[in-house]
Amino acid sequence: MENKKDKTKNKDDMKLIKEGYITIIAGPCAIESWKQLDETAKVVKDLGLSFLRGGAYKPRTSPYSFQGLGKKGLEYLKEIRAKYGLKTVTEVTDTENVEIIADSVDVLQIGTRNMSNFALLKKVGKVANEKNKKVILKRGWASSIKEWLLAVEYITLRGNTEVVLCERGIRTFETNTRFTLDLSAVPVIKKLSKLPIIVDPSHAVGQSDLVIPMSRAAIAVGADGLIVEAHVNPSQALCDGQQSLNAKELSELIRQVRNLAEINGKKIR
Ligand code: PEP
Ligand code: MN
Repeated sequence: MENKKDKTKNKDDMKLIKEGYITIIAGPCAIESWKQLDETAKVVKDLGLSFLRGGAYKPRTSPYSFQGLGKKGLEYLKEIRAKYGLKTVTEVTDTENVEIIADSVDVLQIGTRNMSNFALLKKVGKVANEKNKKVILKRGWASSIKEWLLAVEYITLRGNTEVVLCERGIRTFETNTRFTLDLSAVPVIKKLSKLPIIVDPSHAVGQSDLVIPMSRAAIAVGADGLIVEAHVNPSQALCDGQQSLNAKELSELIRQVRNLAEINGKKIR
C-alpha cells in the first residue's frame, strides 16, 4: 500500500499540472552558456520551483537575432536537469528537431509562431506519445480560441499526451505592451475544455515591471500556472532581457502568487 502511494506521488510529480498546485515554470528566454543556465537553474531550484525553461532553438522574428545554441543548448539542459533535479521545458521549432529535443527534456513547447504548423503538431503528438513527454501549446498571437483548441487535437489525435495550453498574448492595436494578454481566455477555456491552462505574462507584456501584476491577475482568474522569463543578469541577456525577471523579482513574484494561491488552498511548485 505504502509503495503504491509513493508511485502515485511520483507519477503526479512528473505531470506539468498537479492537483492542488500552481506550477511556475521559470528560466531564460534562451540558453546562452553553461554558466548562465546553471546560475539561473540554481535560483529556480532555491526558490522551490520544479520546472526550468530555456530555449535552445529560438524562433526569432529577425533572422539576424541570436538563434539559440541548438544542440549545445540541449546538452546543457540535460546536464543541468540532472544536476538540480529540475524538469525542463524547451521549444520545438521544426519537425526535424522534435526527436532530439524529446530525448533531452521533459516538456516540449510549441510557440505562438507554430500553433498552426500542423506538420509540427502531428510530429510532436507522435513523439510525445512514444517518449512520454508533456506538451505546452502556446496560443497563436492571431488565433481564436476555437482554432487553438482544434490545434490541440492534431497533437492528441494518436495518443493521450498531457497537453497544457498557454495564453501568451494576442496582437491588437495597443502598442504600450508587446501583445495584449487575453486573460478572458482562461475562464473561456475552463468552460469549453478540460485542458489545463497556464499564462505567459512575459511575452504578453514585454516589460519586466508588468510581469508581476499580470501574473497575479492570471492566478486570480483561475490559471493553473505561469511560465515566466528569468535571467541572472537581464541587462546582458541575448534575448528578451527587457521582459526577464532577475532573481529578486522572481522571488517577489513567487511570494505574491503564493499568497493568492493559498486563498484557494493551493501550493506553489
Ligand atoms: C518563448 O517562450 O521563448 C517564446 C518564443 O514564446 P512565444 O512563442 O510565446 O513568442
Ligand atoms: Mn522570449
